[in-house]
Amino acid sequence: MAQLLSGRDAAQAWKTHIRKEVAGRLAQGKRAPHLAAILVGEDPASQAYVKGKVRDCEEVGFGSTLIELSSQTTQATLLQHVADLNKNPEIDGFIVQLPLPKHLNPDQVLLAIDPRKDVDGFHPENVGRMALGLPTYLPATPYGMLLLLEHYGISTEGRNAVVVGRSNIVGSPMSILLSRNSKMGNATVTLAHSKTANLEFLCQNADLLVAAIGRPKFITANMVRPGAVVLDVGINRVDGKLVGDVDFAEVEPIAGAISPVPGGVGLMTRVGLLMNTLHAARRH
Ligand code: NDP
Repeated sequence: MAQLLSGRDAAQAWKTHIRKEVAGRLAQGKRAPHLAAILVGEDPASQAYVKGKVRDCEEVGFGSTLIELSSQTTQATLLQHVADLNKNPEIDGFIVQLPLPKHLNPDQVLLAIDPRKDVDGFHPENVGRMALGLPTYLPATPYGMLLLLEHYGISTEGRNAVVVGRSNIVGSPMSILLSRNSKMGNATVTLAHSKTANLEFLCQNADLLVAAIGRPKFITANMVRPGAVVLDVGINRVDGKLVGDVDFAEVEPIAGAISPVPGGVGLMTRVGLLMNTLHAARRH
């Protein structure tokens, strides 16, 4: 039976650590870190995600501001809110919840965010800094996965890692972070995608397999080396239930360690955002 990499347990432990940091700041007469979020429109999934982020802030003692804008909001109005948050000295970092309604241009919004407040780590300047190994905000989902591994004392050094999926927010940054010369890096990384040949063979050789595909139960037992560490990023809704990209029932008996869905990487993504906000407060 595989070790369960519980996002719930790891998130609690990291939140305790963050709470202590906040208490330390307050004891020194500094203010609590403050995260703001802009939510445009009434998409239920986005509303739920943002509310979760606000709850997390309350739990660790951060301040939070939620700016809710109607789905009719113009690009100019949204950019004005971004400019206001850039200037506001009480806000350490902020996010614009994606996806935006179709009439809005997310790239332009992203570029308008001050990189020093871009706690999602999506601004090109921060992506570049990450690739160069310079101090920056790491994209929350890959960061959360590294924090999950660190919590369970799982080293990535010298391991063969296969990341399936190359999106800008998950797969690509995860492959960069795992291959960096750093504590939670030093893996030998293969980045696979929909055009990859011999995917099954590549996955079979992975000591660490990261599934970020967006296809329910795509990773099956025949693709997993016995004893491998498997991180499941996928969040797919099937018949009203959340299902990962890994066939958990098949893979769990042969893996060495595996993260569940729900209760795995998703919760750690939120911790990644909290950690970035803490770093932002330290910088300011
Ligand atoms: P994208 O749709 O942006 O990327 C999916 C990737 O999977 C692409 O690179 C695609 O390849 C690849 N892919 C698709 N089909 C195959 C295939 N048959 N074989 C190999 N590779 C394939 O997804 P995201 O990265 O944004 O998200 C992935 C999953 O993670 C989703 O379920 C999403 O909901 C979830 N997610 C979870 C988060 C969390 O906090 N837990 C956060 C963000 C996302 P190609 O590039 O060639 O098209």
